[in-house]
Amino acid sequence: MTRPTFRFAPSPNGELHLGHAYSALLNAAMARKTGGRLLLRIEDIDLTRCTPEFEAGIFRDLEWLGIEWEEPVRRQSEHLAEYGGLLDRLIAWELVYPAFMSRGETRAHIAQAEESGRTWPRDPDGVPLYPGLDKALSASERKKRMANGEPFAWRLDTAAAMARVDKPLTWTEFAGPDMDTARKVEARPDLWGDVVLARRDVPTSYHLSVVADDALQSITHVVRGLDLFAATGIHRLLQELLELPEPAYFHHRLIPGPDGRKLSKSFRDTGLSALRSAGRTPDEIKAMLEA
Ligand code: GLU
Repeated sequence: MTRPTFRFAPSPNGELHLGHAYSALLNAAMARKTGGRLLLRIEDIDLTRCTPEFEAGIFRDLEWLGIEWEEPVRRQSEHLAEYGGLLDRLIAWELVYPAFMSRGETRAHIAQAEESGRTWPRDPDGVPLYPGLDKALSASERKKRMANGEPFAWRLDTAAAMARVDKPLTWTEFAGPDMDTARKVEARPDLWGDVVLARRDVPTSYHLSVVADDALQSITHVVRGLDLFAATGIHRLLQELLELPEPAYFHHRLIPGPDGRKLSKSFRDTGLSALRSAGRTPDEIKAMLEA
């Protein structure tokens, strides 16, 4: 039997806060309890927002919390060619298309539709779905615009991808960290519309690289925040298309900020380095998270 393999996968685009500490400690505890492994992955594909300083902060904070992970650490920015290989397969299958509409054009198109009384569909995060007008472009028009150097993102033709898979998709979601009971959740990639798989500025995206890496690192248990619960629908579709193994999932509760809302990287006072500077100990952090 393969050893249970967990991962903590922060993005170095800000300082770690209490929510990250909760996720990292939970992954470490679950790995320990199951005799499994804990891997660390640095999700740094956003080359403009991720910095070496934030990455150094991640190591400092995790070490301070006493978390141990197996080497080597996987840094996504070092594996762009691997994600490109997966994207090439989707291009060959014509399951992705070059999306040329800029944010401004997209916004204007949606505003116009809404002004004429249409309710524009939104994804589970509340973001309006991409209009997907470029799907109708002819092959020669696409080629011409690409050859002219027009910027574009590769978007998944979600309906076509679901038709290719042609079966109901589910995932296994544990009810709690003890993993005693699990249920099957229906995957709904359709709720997200045509998601970006390779950005204009980076030849991959969160969705593509996360499924690639969970497979390449042989992750058996994905333990992450509830804010990513619905995105698992897209991940299951990509896993099925690309014939990648299916991990089990546990989406844990989110740690609220001082105002009761979701924590973000801008909550400086719940940042781990700020708490450390204020004299808090790792044990106090753990106690705060158990409360
Ligand atoms: N890198 C993501 C984040 O920092 C987590 C991705 C995941 O766990 O799937 O929010």
